Amino acid sequence: MALMGQMMSEPLLISSIIKHAARHYGGTEIVSRRTEGDLHRYTYRDCELRSRKLAQAIAALGVQSGDRVGTLAWNGYRHLEIYYGVSGSGAVCHTVNPRLFPEQVAYIINHAEDQYVFFDATFLPLVEGVAAHCPGVKGWVMMSDRSHMPAQAKVPLLCYEDLIDAQDGNYTWPQFDENTASSLCYTSGTTGNPKGALYSHRSTVLHSYASALPDALGCSARDVILPVVPMFHVNAWGLPYSVPLVGAKLVLPGAKLDGASVYELFEKEKVTFSAGVPTVWLGLLQHVQANNLKFSTFNRTVIGGSAAPPAMIRALKALGVETIHAWGMTEMSPLGTSCRLLARHEELPEAEQQKIQEKQGRVIYGVDMKIVDGDGNELPWDGKAFGDLHVRGPWVIEHYYRNDASPLVDGWFPTGDVATIDPDGYMQITDRSKDVIKSGGEWISSIDIENVAAAHPAVHMAACISCYHPKWDERPLLVVMKKPGAEVTREELLKYFEGKVAKWWIPDDVAFVTEIPLTATGKMQKLKLREQFKDYRLPAA
Ligand code: ADP
Repeated sequence: MALMGQMMSEPLLISSIIKHAARHYGGTEIVSRRTEGDLHRYTYRDCELRSRKLAQAIAALGVQSGDRVGTLAWNGYRHLEIYYGVSGSGAVCHTVNPRLFPEQVAYIINHAEDQYVFFDATFLPLVEGVAAHCPGVKGWVMMSDRSHMPAQAKVPLLCYEDLIDAQDGNYTWPQFDENTASSLCYTSGTTGNPKGALYSHRSTVLHSYASALPDALGCSARDVILPVVPMFHVNAWGLPYSVPLVGAKLVLPGAKLDGASVYELFEKEKVTFSAGVPTVWLGLLQHVQANNLKFSTFNRTVIGGSAAPPAMIRALKALGVETIHAWGMTEMSPLGTSCRLLARHEELPEAEQQKIQEKQGRVIYGVDMKIVDGDGNELPWDGKAFGDLHVRGPWVIEHYYRNDASPLVDGWFPTGDVATIDPDGYMQITDRSKDVIKSGGEWISSIDIENVAAAHPAVHMAACISCYHPKWDERPLLVVMKKPGAEVTREELLKYFEGKVAKWWIPDDVAFVTEIPLTATGKMQKLKLREQFKDYRLPAA
């Protein structure tokens, strides 16, 4: 018989995070830009009390342990209360991405069997459109006070503040098995139907601990943290948990995610640390550069969700902001790797340091990774061999929600990404396997091509997609959205690649577009571009 440890076996529950913040950082602020238009401020102590009232309110509505409760909401304090009130009571907080097509929103709500859906005022038209297609939803709760409720709506609505006001907060967070489901996120489903990743209390608490570590995201009580990444995009990469866990001030930007609004909030609230997908920083950088502004307190940001273009890392650095390149996915809660320099890298010339920072980084404790060839054999960590990236760990998915087929291969989760790993363990994504360009059987990294193009001063955004070629099967086509007022020709752009990538990697052609379509999580929608250009004839073809 094994000798068992004799320490308290307290379950790792999400409620413990907000309890901790309220008790030990009770006076620390949470600032939210509301759909009402104003800035709302209160403290962790207030947040925990109102989360308890919300737990009482959903119990009064009949929500039981394990039931799913949906949200269609921006980053804001009420959404945070739902994160804690719903999960903390043993129900499942299901964040739905409101930027998806209404049919997908309805599909996801129905698949999850959400009992109630909480939504921000912005999404009333969406709710009015989908409600009839979601017969299982017992009630739609508008996250607003009585005075902001619509005079009439096409759907019977409940009012969030009325629900809260009816409760006294006399509620004790229940204790239960840490493996109980806590929250649910669907992948955005660029192919096929969206699939659900059902997190547990244990996986969430462990992920929050690990991602707060100094070489991961590095969150501290001394920080002021503003997640631009939405709370409906893989739980804002866990920040709504890891920020209260460390006791930092939290700033939630609501619906206004344009450069000017985000900048204003950064300055006003003395934000030190932020996180978002590259397209968000494009907007912010454009605003800051166009108006000759500086950041007074903002000093580092996490960029993930898609590759951070080197030009963006450099531009942020020039403004005194360190980029922490991070990689992960919905199936990984989401954090897998983050890129921080080692002590010995500090002596390297800046250009070499930047080369490292362009990689997606090293795993954080809890996650393990490997790259494998087509037969599943592990490939060397030499920074050159590339293969399918597989991961495992206590916050990595085992099964999709309501889907019996196991996605695992030999106990590992295949990410669908193609990567290299160098001898120091820094992983670099070369592509999503479905975005890889295969020219004459050899692979071209679309990310590398995009990174070069993004550094050209006239380029706002660039996507590299494969195009049919009679001889080579596929050749790269560069789709470019220019900066407003900037001029550049096809020839100039192609010449710009010379000496920067292997000759045969240089795209065959450039197509200028006024808009590059983005996914619901703000990534370039290459699938749509490939459809758009499916009949495109390359000049040499
Ligand atoms: P979706 O993009 O479908 O909404 P996810 O947010 O889960 O869903 O996307 C995960 C994928 O995003 C990863 O598998 C990878 O392809 C891509 N990704 C995430 N972070 C990075 C990064 N830093 N660099 C390159 N690709 C990234």
